[in-house]
Amino acid sequence: METFWADLGEKMKGAYEHAEKVSKKDLDMLSNIPAIMSFLKDMSQEDLLLLLDQARKIKKRKNPKNPPINGDFYNIRATLEPEDRVKIDEVRQFMLTHVEPIATDYWMKGEFPHHIIPKMRELNIIGLTYEKKYGGQERSNMLEGMIGEEIARVDVSTCTFFGVHSGLALNSIYLCGSEEQKMEFLPPMIRMEKIGAFGLTEPNVGSAASMGLETRCRREDDKWIISGEKKWIGNATFADYIIIWAKDEEDNQVKGFIVDRETPGLTTEKIEDKMSLRIVQNAIIRMVDIEVPESRRLQNANSFRDTAKVLKMTRAGVAWQAVGCARGAYEYTLAYTMDRKQFGRSIASFQLTQDMLAQMLSQLTAMQCMVGRLSQLLDQGVMSDEQASLAKVFCTVGCRTITSMSRELMGGNGILISNKVARFLGDAEALYSYEGTKQINSLVVGRAITGVSAFV
Ligand SMILES: Cc1cc2nc3c(=O)[nH]c(=O)nc-3n(C[C@H](O)[C@H](O)[C@H](O)COP(=O)(O)OP(=O)(O)OC[C@H]3O[C@@H](n4cnc5c(N)ncnc54)[C@H](O)[C@@H]3O)c2cc1C
Repeated sequence: METFWADLGEKMKGAYEHAEKVSKKDLDMLSNIPAIMSFLKDMSQEDLLLLLDQARKIKKRKNPKNPPINGDFYNIRATLEPEDRVKIDEVRQFMLTHVEPIATDYWMKGEFPHHIIPKMRELNIIGLTYEKKYGGQERSNMLEGMIGEEIARVDVSTCTFFGVHSGLALNSIYLCGSEEQKMEFLPPMIRMEKIGAFGLTEPNVGSAASMGLETRCRREDDKWIISGEKKWIGNATFADYIIIWAKDEEDNQVKGFIVDRETPGLTTEKIEDKMSLRIVQNAIIRMVDIEVPESRRLQNANSFRDTAKVLKMTRAGVAWQAVGCARGAYEYTLAYTMDRKQFGRSIASFQLTQDMLAQMLSQLTAMQCMVGRLSQLLDQGVMSDEQASLAKVFCTVGCRTITSMSRELMGGNGILISNKVARFLGDAEALYSYEGTKQINSLVVGRAITGVSAFV
């Protein structure tokens, strides 16, 4: 198969434009099967995937003569290496084939589509940036970010599942584990044979997790006894490992543990009544004197400062997710405005509609440029906490604005879940609040630029 694609090579860049401008001659060609086969044979994989994606959208649109829909207006994609663009195309194909057709249904049911995990595994997109000795691929954070955008563009819940496993859980082990722990836990998690969750926040403690965790741990010989409750923990109902953060009764510092979900004394209860990210299985975890061996304590997590290292990385990921969510809503809405007619014309032809579309696109483009630069800083190893926090704030605020404008532009149809934008609108709310609310991330930025901490 690879040779097949390689043979198709780079021969026909621009086939995508060709497909948009269908002439009489082209239409004649459509009845000539050998000509179609030769046309397709000459296309690169990249162009073919773009064509398929466009064809899907054109099929849904009543007027196929409209310009192509592309929320990457400044072509941020072009900053990727060619092999990374191929990876993005594979992710897009996976999302369009396996997730888009079922996302709304699963969102309504509040269930997680476990059957997509084996397909997702084949994409090989977990732990992409890690060293090869752990099963990673030493690829760029820019690629990882754009994969997040691509997943969220279709479904933010699937992206959150990806972010909790690949970002929060794996990064806890990668950044806070000993070499032995990394060698033991990362490879099977990268292969998605084992799934992770991340348990930090609690029923009484969200924003103040750095100071007030109520979950307690105490050492007894070679094991730790942990008691307490966690709230909102994504993937927790089915994950193999849950990273549990707890305060040590002895030194009052936050420590992290790799806990088996099936540990006696640990129970999970799914949170049912969400209006956001309904596919994600968030749970309340209750732990009554559970026993965890010292070998499962993250050996380099000695205080909340170490937990914060994990959050810094994943806040960048949430910013990319917000870009994907906003892009999905913008692209869907743009297509809608071209098809929807009022007063005998498409609503896209009205000046006020175009003004709103331009506002949405400018906000989206600013977000993309910001996260693109953020990932460059991360790739250079110089991204700071406050840079990640600023992007998390800007992109989630922008995502809320864009999804809300999308809904408005779709009129009454915008509130129907079947029209996708309502799902994005709901999902934007969780992005806005998790991994540090707007206020908490703004306070991180405020502390950095004023030199004064205003948290309490
Ligand atoms: C869908 C979803 C998934 C999640 N997944 C996970 C997960 O997998 N693992 C995990 O550990 N957690 C998870 N969380 C928890 C998430 O990180 C918290 O919801 C978030 O940190 C906010 O905490 P809280 O909800 O308790 O709000 P609170 O902390 O109670 O905040 C309420 C309001 O008070 C404001 N506020 C608080 N302190 C200040 C202050 N000092 N100054 C100004 N305003 C302030 C907040 O900004 C907010 O507006 C998830 C949450 C959601 C909604």
